[in-house]
Formats: sequence, structure tokens, C-alpha cells
Amino acid sequence: MKQSGLVCLDMEGVLTPEIWINVAEVTGIEALRRTTRDEPNYDTLMQYRLAVLDKHNLTIKDIQGVISTLKPLPGAETFLTELRRRYPLVILSDTFYPFAGPLMEGLGLPTLFCHDLDIDDSGKITGYRLRLKDQKRLAVKAFKELNFKVAAAGDSYNDTTMLKEADHGFLFCPPQNVIDEFPQFPVNKDYGQLLEAIKSVLG
Ligand SMILES: [Mg+2]
Repeated sequence: MKQSGLVCLDMEGVLTPEIWINVAEVTGIEALRRTTRDEPNYDTLMQYRLAVLDKHNLTIKDIQGVISTLKPLPGAETFLTELRRRYPLVILSDTFYPFAGPLMEGLGLPTLFCHDLDIDDSGKITGYRLRLKDQKRLAVKAFKELNFKVAAAGDSYNDTTMLKEADHGFLFCPPQNVIDEFPQFPVNKDYGQLLEAIKSVLG
């Protein structure tokens, strides 16, 4: 019997701009430009970001102010609609719920699994809480145990365990260093190409 398909997508760099890069641009704080594309260890990256925010007295309100000016990438909502017409779809992101809300509105409120932040009464971000370590891979593993055939796509280091776990893993507009290190994942350069690739493996 044909197995039902399910799609897992990364958010930043696939459906939306990189939040931290935009915060760096608006605030002029170059140190916030580092992303999972540059630093594969997520905890190292987050501790570094929180230290930079603290040093510059940036609160959750400042960051939400920047995020409220961001829009999903052009064509992302239509792409998601096309996918969701055919398959159940879950966005697996290492962002945080207090950041992602407005961007999810712009994408038609798809399902998002991500992490959370600790914020004190003054709005200072005092820490972050991973809902689950390696959640992208473990979500894909769980969906497979629920008898879905999973296609996954992402752009960065923090997607590669998810792509390996999936029945079919794809890179979407990745940087060259990720292409070089993970040549086993087919590279897709636009939504039309990725949609066709997913349809070809999930039917
Ligand atoms: Mg990404």
C-alpha cells in the first residue's frame, strides 16, 4: 500500500528572512550577524547572541519591533499553500515562539514546532529553553513511526540531522559550505523546483 507523505520545512532562510541578520542590520550590531550557517553549535551561538543583547541593552520589544517589519520570502505563502493542499506540513525551526508569531500570520498560520525564551519583567531575554534537543530530527523520526513517509527541506547546518533522518532530504538555497559538506542532499534553488522535487518523492 502507498505510504502517506508528510513535509517538514525549516523556517528561516527557507520561508522567511533570517531574523538575527535583520536585527543586526536594523540595530547596526555586526556581532549579531552570526547564524547557524556560520556556527554549527547552536548553544554556543545562542549564548553568544544573549551576551551581545545584554551588552547593548536590547529587549524582546526591540527584537519584536524588527520582526514586525519582516515579511515571508516572496512566493513562500503560495508555495506553502500548494504543499498543504497535498500533504500535512510542519515547520521545524530553531527560532522561538515570541519571535515567530507575526511571520506565521504572513504564511497563513502553518503548524510550527520551535523553542521558547525566558524573559524577565523588564523585557530582557535572560535565557532560552530548547523544547527538545535535536528536535528537528526527533520530530521526523516520530512522524516516520506514525507511518508517514517524510520529505524535509532546509538551508543550514541545523537542518542536516533532520535531512538525514527523513526519507528524502533536500537543501534549499544553501550556502556553498553546506553544499560542499553535505553533497548527498539534492539542492533546490526556487520554490517551483522544490515543490516538484517533493511531489516526485511523495507522489
Ligand atoms: Mg534556516
